[in-house]
Amino acid sequence: MADRAALRALPAVDRVLAAAGCGPALDRFGRAAVTAAVREVLAEIRAAPPAPGALPDAEAVAARAAGQLEARGRSTLRAVFNLTGTVLHTNLGRALLAEAAIEAAVEAMRDAVALEYDLDTGRRGERDDHVRDLLRELTGAEDATVVNNNAAAVLLALNTLGDGRDAVVSRGELIEIGGAFRMPDIMARAGVRLVEVGTTNRTHPRDYRAVLGPGTGLILKVHTSNYRIEGFTAEVGGGALAAIAREAGVPLLNDLGSGTLVDLSRHGLAREPTVREAVAEGADLVTFSGDKLLGGPQAGFVVGRRDLIAAINRNPMKRALRLDKIRLAALAATLRLYRDPDRLAERLPTLRLLARGAAEIEAQARGLAPALARLLPPGITVEACACRSQIGSGALPLDTLPSYGLRLSAPRGRDLEALAAALRALPRPVIGRLRDGALLLDLRCLTDDAAFLTNLSALRPAHDVA
Ligand SMILES: *Cc1c(COP(=O)(O)O)cnc(C)c1O
Repeated sequence: MADRAALRALPAVDRVLAAAGCGPALDRFGRAAVTAAVREVLAEIRAAPPAPGALPDAEAVAARAAGQLEARGRSTLRAVFNLTGTVLHTNLGRALLAEAAIEAAVEAMRDAVALEYDLDTGRRGERDDHVRDLLRELTGAEDATVVNNNAAAVLLALNTLGDGRDAVVSRGELIEIGGAFRMPDIMARAGVRLVEVGTTNRTHPRDYRAVLGPGTGLILKVHTSNYRIEGFTAEVGGGALAAIAREAGVPLLNDLGSGTLVDLSRHGLAREPTVREAVAEGADLVTFSGDKLLGGPQAGFVVGRRDLIAAINRNPMKRALRLDKIRLAALAATLRLYRDPDRLAERLPTLRLLARGAAEIEAQARGLAPALARLLPPGITVEACACRSQIGSGALPLDTLPSYGLRLSAPRGRDLEALAAALRALPRPVIGRLRDGALLLDLRCLTDDAAFLTNLSALRPAHDVA
């Protein structure tokens, strides 16, 4: 009863809107949004009335409404510090684009572009023309096309080559990439019949030959990106498989997954088969991703035989899976960087991060540790420590990279969880990894120490966890 009487003193919506504190919010969010937020705050107060005498005035209600609008207005896709140690982190958006790609994308967003328009003839052009020649040049393939991502590229290639027919694949290559990408499921959706050959650890040429026949649509080879079978193993390589496919008169589709256009050992990484090598070995079509080792936007490529690419382009699915002008612009700009391999690591952020040496990261960690310790809540200890980064996205899963990081430990486990949550709540969220009773911040992907420390200075007052 007392509460209800007290609520009568609650300011009316108009009074809150007229409060000085509402001014900036009205400018930023507009009258309709602010009015709705004020009503919401008033309803919240009515639903759970405070003690008599603690009723907020118009300014306090305005401040609460403004705070809620501010929080809601913040992008959920804002930049984070990826200190997880996984460079191509699928959940954090994989590759970081090169400046040239960013500029090209911005231009394509802002202006009309000749997306499907041939500037020489004034006639209709093709969207793929922006990357076709580049891809041919960089991979040695006869022709190329590009779609939404590599999962789409595989789906489209399988459906085009093998709809209603058999797709022959080794039992050792029926991978799950994560999420819903499992090769047998994709094959079913592509309309091909999965014919497994060999065993988990060993598949021989005779296993493929035994099942090839009039019902065969294609042979599929899949790069086992995210795991490796070791020990008593046998696999039919791309070259030998191409010969078997040619003999039987069926196409070979090689899904390289990450796929790289350059020899990564040049940048201190383990060697991966390049797309050019897969093409030269005789695969009829090769599929790979745009945002894994290639370092571009999300995309999936299909390169290979001209007649098969033409068939893919006639498939109605192609239209459903095509790229927009923004990504196409970024992709073409990324591919152009590959024409100058000597300066690739300088220009391609993902490659630059992957190629960073442990000594450089160690110096960074030792420099940052004391400054970080001062910004963290009391009770949290910080030490520089050696760690290992991963390439991520299934590329070279066993070849971790020596790195350095900061090990944050707390007296109690729950303090550590709270610290991790507080770091995630920063203006620019900091994402590390909880491991061995500590929060590890791998510094491989940290390129702006000053921005990192400024961001952390927002931590102190609100989130004392010790
Ligand atoms: C990553 C991967 C895919 C899926 O590629 P996305 O670009 O993520 O769609 C398919 N096949 C293999 C072997 C992969 O590694």
